[in-house]
Amino acid sequence: MSIETTDAVILKQTPFGETSRIITLLSRDFGLLRGVAKGVRQQSSRLARFLEPLTEVELVLYYYTDRDLHLISKASELNPFHQLRSNPLRLAHSLVIVEHVLRLLPPEDPSPQIYELLVESLRLLDEGAVNERFVLLAFRVKLLHLLGIAPRLEGCITCGKKLTSRVNIFFPSQGGFICEECPPPWREGRMTERGGERALRVRREVVALLNQLSKGDIVSFGGKTPGGGLLSEAGRLLGFHTNYHLGVNIRSERFLEEAREVYGEK
Ligand SMILES: [Zn+2]
Repeated sequence: MSIETTDAVILKQTPFGETSRIITLLSRDFGLLRGVAKGVRQQSSRLARFLEPLTEVELVLYYYTDRDLHLISKASELNPFHQLRSNPLRLAHSLVIVEHVLRLLPPEDPSPQIYELLVESLRLLDEGAVNERFVLLAFRVKLLHLLGIAPRLEGCITCGKKLTSRVNIFFPSQGGFICEECPPPWREGRMTERGGERALRVRREVVALLNQLSKGDIVSFGGKTPGGGLLSEAGRLLGFHTNYHLGVNIRSERFLEEAREVYGEK
C-alpha cells in the first residue's frame, strides 16, 4: 500500500455498507479506478460534498497494488462545474461523456491526455460558450483517437485515394471508407444490412468535420459550429464504429435525446 495524491474527476457513486460509498473516478495518475469513501453517507462527513459526480478534486488515496478497490482518505475541490450541473441540457451531454469514460476505458490504465480531454470537455460545457452537441462530438472523436480505435478518415482504406465524392460509404467492419472505384464488400444507398455487413452513407462535409476535429482543439471551432444535421450524421458514424468494435451502445444517448426534446436546442 502507498499513499498517493492525484487529481481526479468523480464519475459515479454507489452505496457501500451502512455509511460508505464506492466512488468511481478518472484520475490523472492511475486512470479509471474505484475507491471506498468511508462514512460519507453520515451527515457529519466533511468528505461527502467533494465526491459528487462531475466534480474535479485533488484526492489523497491509500493505493493498494494488489487490489482493485482503494481507499479515499481526503479530497479538496479543484473545479465544482456548478453551471454544468444546473443546466439540464449541459448535464445530459456531460452524462454521455461520463458513460463513454466508464465503458470504454480499461481500468487503472492511466492516460493524462484522456484526463485532460475529460476536464477540458466538462469545462467547456460548464462555461456554455461552445454548443454542447459540438463539445460531445469532439470529445468522442478525440477519445477514440487516444484509445487507438478511431475510424480511418483520411481516404479510401483500399487504394488510399482522397474521398472526393459528395457521399461516401463507411464500413464499420473495415473501420473506414471505401471509394467508388474500389470493389466494395457491396454498395448500398442507405445504412442497411446485407449478409451481416453494414454500411453507412456519409456526406463529404461530415468526413471533413471529423477529420478536423481529430486534429484541432475544440475551442478553435467554437465560433463556427456546424449545423445539427452534420453533427447528427457524424455522431451516428462514431456510434456505429464504437458499437462494432467495442460492442458498446452508450445508453445515456437516449436520455440525451429526451432532454433535447424537452429543453430544446439552441
Ligand atoms: Zn479506393
